[in-house]
Amino acid sequence: MSTRLVLLGPPGAGKGTQAARLAERFGVPTISTGDIFRANIKGGTPLGRTVQEYTSRGALVPDSVTNDMVRDRLAQDDVTEGFLLDGYPRNVAQVGELDAILADSGLALDLAVEITADSDIVAERLLKRAQIEGRDDDTEDVIRHRLDIYAQETAPIARVYAERGLLVQVDGIGDVDVVTERLVAAIGATSGH
Ligand code: AMP
Repeated sequence: MSTRLVLLGPPGAGKGTQAARLAERFGVPTISTGDIFRANIKGGTPLGRTVQEYTSRGALVPDSVTNDMVRDRLAQDDVTEGFLLDGYPRNVAQVGELDAILADSGLALDLAVEITADSDIVAERLLKRAQIEGRDDDTEDVIRHRLDIYAQETAPIARVYAERGLLVQVDGIGDVDVVTERLVAAIGATSGH
């Protein structure tokens, strides 16, 4: 059985944490574009140098850069049984690109799962995380910008997937374990796991 999933939700909704848990549960790799960018920035690679000016101010990295990176990642052997995308697609154009990448391999997405959370709550969580992790895109101004970008560019994606009958929404507020079980139940109910 294949598990080709996209995880949606505002920054601070717990996407990264839940993606790791779901990937383990379903035995598929998580592909987090944010993590790949951060690893490249840390490693001082050419990609890292290209993207840092965008990530550090909470802007989206240009689609040309992001799409190529995702296409390469999805060409690797470990995704043949499925994958969980965290942080991609991030705008409607990237939805089309993901469709094209998958169609080139005769594949299609199984489901888009949106973790919902109130914007005041996620802003508060992000500020707390900033104190603990020290991510350079977790300052108050940048957090606000990232939430604006989410509302303008990323939230409309949910509608696109909903129109295709591929969207499930899961309440992201609550205990981490409880949210994981909600997600597992929602995914299982729709994809036959
Ligand atoms: P994240 O860890 O998913 O919040 O991503 C951190 C940052 O990486 C974002 O604020 C963007 O600057 C960049 N980024 C991650 N994914 C994408 C994407 N799909 N398209 C463009 N930029 C992205």
